[in-house]
This record gives sequence, C-alpha cells and structure tokens, in this order.
Amino acid sequence: MLIAAAIACGTCTAMAQDMSGTPLRSQAIGENIYRVDGGIANTGFVIAENGVIVIDAQRTPAEGAAQIALIAATTPRPIAAILLTHADPDHVGGLPAYPDTARIIAHENSRAQILAAANADDGGPFFGPLYKAVASSRMPHQVIGATERMVLAGTRVEMIYVAPAHGSGDLIVYFPDHRVAFAGDIVLTDQGRFPSIRRGGSSLGWIEAMQTILALDADVIVPGHGPIAPRARLEIQLRDAIERRRAIKQMVEEEKTLDQIDAALPPENINPRFPSFNRTTYDELVKGYPEQVPPWHGLTERP
Ligand SMILES: [Zn+2]
Repeated sequence: MLIAAAIACGTCTAMAQDMSGTPLRSQAIGENIYRVDGGIANTGFVIAENGVIVIDAQRTPAEGAAQIALIAATTPRPIAAILLTHADPDHVGGLPAYPDTARIIAHENSRAQILAAANADDGGPFFGPLYKAVASSRMPHQVIGATERMVLAGTRVEMIYVAPAHGSGDLIVYFPDHRVAFAGDIVLTDQGRFPSIRRGGSSLGWIEAMQTILALDADVIVPGHGPIAPRARLEIQLRDAIERRRAIKQMVEEEKTLDQIDAALPPENINPRFPSFNRTTYDELVKGYPEQVPPWHGLTERP
C-alpha cells in the first residue's frame, strides 16, 4: 500500500506515506532512537544491535505499513519487537501489518482489552474490525503484570508498570542507555490542563505514574500525542492534578455532590471521549475502582 518513501538525512527526517495520505515523519531524539509523528498517535523506534524495537504500532494496518516503510528507509535491520504502551486503537490497530517474527509485548490488561474489544458487538464500523484483525492475527506474545527489565535485540529496556493511569494497562517504555522514555497516553501535550483518563484508569494512579516518569533519568519524554514538551510543563500538569485531586477529596469528605464540585472547580471538556478529571476522581473516591479491570496493584489508596 506504500506509494512514497523518501529520506532526507540532513534533517534526520524520513517520510513515508500510505494510500490514506498519512504522512509519517521520524525525528531523531538520541543516537539510534526516533520519535514518529504525523499519525494519530506518537510512536517511535530504536535501531538496536540485532534489530529494531518499535514502540506502538499506529492506528490501522495501512498506517502500520507506512511506519514499517519509514523504518525500512532508515535501517535495513529487521523489526525484532513491538512494545505497546497501552491498548487504545490508535496505538495497536496497525499490528496486523507487522511481520509475525516481531515479538509483541504488552501489559496483561492491554491483552485483555484487545480481546474484549474484539469480542464486543459495540466496537462500531471502524474500531470493531481493527480489534478483530489484531485479535485474530497479532496478539501479544508476551504479557507482563509488573515492571520488567529486559534486553531486546541487544538494547536494555524497562517496561514500567506503576498503576492504572490513563487506562488499566499503561506501560512506560524506558530506554536507560538512550535516556528516553515513551510515556504513552499518560502524557498528552496537545490536550487539556488535566489528564485524559479512560474507564479503567485512575486519577491517583495517573499521579503516581507521572511522578515515576518525571523521576526517570530521561532527557526526552515522548508523549502519546502532541509535541515533546519540556519537563517543567509536565511538572506543572502534575502539580495541578495533585492540587485538584486534593480539593475534590476534601469536598467528597464534606459530602458535596459532583455538581457542587463542578461548580466550585469548573471541569475541562476538551476531550469529550473521556470523563472529566473531576468525574474520574469523584467516582474513584465515592464508588471505588471498577472491579472488572483488575489487577489494581500499585495503588496505595483505597476509598
Ligand atoms: Zn492515544
């Protein structure tokens, strides 16, 4: 499906385009490590000694094929592994395009989410078939339930699981030798002041995950969406979330309703696909964490 692939090494930028017109670009963010933008989500790849490690697959098989072409324009080495930051469709839908020799690694909850979405009847005309295609052809070969350190294709990588954050299967993918972390959708720099948390995620978990990301010895933190931001911007977002969560908790203890909380602390409505940070935090404190998306290890607070 590829119609164009070109490389311009003077700017360290390669481009590839699929028939849907998705222009993917790679940006060197360290030695042999790249961020890919131009798709719906940010992704990345590392050219390791014995192959290429890919971080997230793009949204559709065509966009996945464009990413594979982009990598092929940069290095002849084969794709050895695909590491998934989480199971949202814009990060996993491209998996069927990848060679079946590439090892797919994800959190156990992400695997469960892919299967659940593939088996649900409400996936809709776009996402339903994407998940069905992934489930029938490219499920993770390896799932992890807690932080694991490994060597892939000769490169050290840490798959860090702190707690449910954006969703229940978030992994921070950290390359210590490159001093680069791929944060998935825990870090979003093109959306609101407060984090976007989907069902199964957690406001407390998000805070713990963001604290973990900011404590990493990383020069570059790649967000799931949006431009790479300075660390100070992420620290402000973390501080704002901690302050708002503390204020919501106090109002819950005073038995305020969500409407009263929203009146006192106007919520954002930047991304209507996700509940507001106020609602997520309120539900977590009043109703507890949803039991259908275990495990909840990592969270230190129970309502
Ligand atoms: Zn995303």
